[in-house]
Amino acid sequence: MTHILHRQIHAPLPVAAGGSGIELFDTEGRAYIDASGGAAVSCLGHGHPDVIEALRRQAETLAYAHTSFFTSEPAERLADRLIASAPEGISHAYFVSGGSEANEAAIKMARQYFVEKGQPQRRNIIARRQSYHGNTLGTLAAGGNEWRRAPFAPLLIGTHHISPCYAYRHREEGESDAAYGQRAAQELEDKILELGPDTVMAFMAEPVVGATAGAVPAVEGYFRRIREICDRHGVLLILDEVMCGMGRTGTMFACEQDGVRPDIVTIAKGLGGGYQPIGAALLSRDIFDAFAEGSGLFQHGHTYICHPMACAAALAVQEVIARDGLLRNVREVGAHLRERLEARFGNHAHIGDIRGRGMFLGLELVTDRSTKATFEPDAKLHARVKKEAMARGLMVYPAGGTVDGVRGDHILIAPPFILGRPAAEAIVERLGEALDAAV
Ligand code: PLP
Repeated sequence: MTHILHRQIHAPLPVAAGGSGIELFDTEGRAYIDASGGAAVSCLGHGHPDVIEALRRQAETLAYAHTSFFTSEPAERLADRLIASAPEGISHAYFVSGGSEANEAAIKMARQYFVEKGQPQRRNIIARRQSYHGNTLGTLAAGGNEWRRAPFAPLLIGTHHISPCYAYRHREEGESDAAYGQRAAQELEDKILELGPDTVMAFMAEPVVGATAGAVPAVEGYFRRIREICDRHGVLLILDEVMCGMGRTGTMFACEQDGVRPDIVTIAKGLGGGYQPIGAALLSRDIFDAFAEGSGLFQHGHTYICHPMACAAALAVQEVIARDGLLRNVREVGAHLRERLEARFGNHAHIGDIRGRGMFLGLELVTDRSTKATFEPDAKLHARVKKEAMARGLMVYPAGGTVDGVRGDHILIAPPFILGRPAAEAIVERLGEALDAAV
């Protein structure tokens, strides 16, 4: 009998007892390869001695100081570090406790920016139907996951949705990637014109769509066109890199690979690698100046912003990634993992697409590769894949959802950046067995 309201009330969970490297262990002594980093969180794996040491030192020095009284060294150092490698124009960091809070802050920053600029009529956010931006009311309103939104729909206001950039299903026969990218991006301009350009404050999107789609990157040129459209209409571009950022795709920020500059970029999961809850909204000089020259504050704030323990953990995680050259490993072993997935599942009857970047890879499940037909929701396929994978000592992150009326099931693979080639082989082998058992 548990007194926790768990995510699934009727599905008992194993009890996690410990972790080391790429594995987690339960209290029954079973080991699981963490091939999804939980939910693309554990980028350094588990039990890293340098992070543990940094946490111990910080706990001994200063666990907490309220930000209305003090700043702290780990928060200042983390901000310096992130801004040094952030996309062009980004000048300040706002630290919170996770991804939803980071996106909630980003939405409020966009709104306050226009209030400070004397354009209070700008209140609409445009986002995409295939997206997840968090579970607070503001971020749920922005996101496009129909199932998550449904019970709360009457409370979700001020957001509008366009199609995702989803070449596997939406690119037409004979259409080039470039032409498709322009067509998909044009939907943003059409929506801005429909709502009235002076009512729109921001467009929000994940550069590589994670939980709702299984690692779907945009096609070449899509985001550059999105940036042009935002600039033409004075709309801010918020990139949600909560899942795909902090090295997961092989570069520190995923948007570097799309050649696009955001006004606000949000990060979380890989920032602290799961060692502490932490997220951040990184904002441009222009937005910072609007606050500094206007009211002199950002009208927001939670008790745990800039938490010293969380910032110390994130600092240690980011220092290890840089010191050990782990982004290179993400690119090299990520490419190897993808090759092995393609060799094993490239002709698999129930795998329609294999995609992603770096160590952020997705498989799309279909009943038939040639028609791309999807499984019925009643099949609860993603739950079955997860169960069969766990039974074989493998954690992958399967999800299902509906986009533009089409259902889809996906498996997300997002292992720790320390993954080696033999472990990549083991992931593919166990996943193959799990899929054969589940489908
Ligand atoms: N944004 C994206 C892209 C995510 O994948 C998630 C979580 O999965 C969130 C936001 C919300 O983050 P959190 O669960 O830390 O609140």
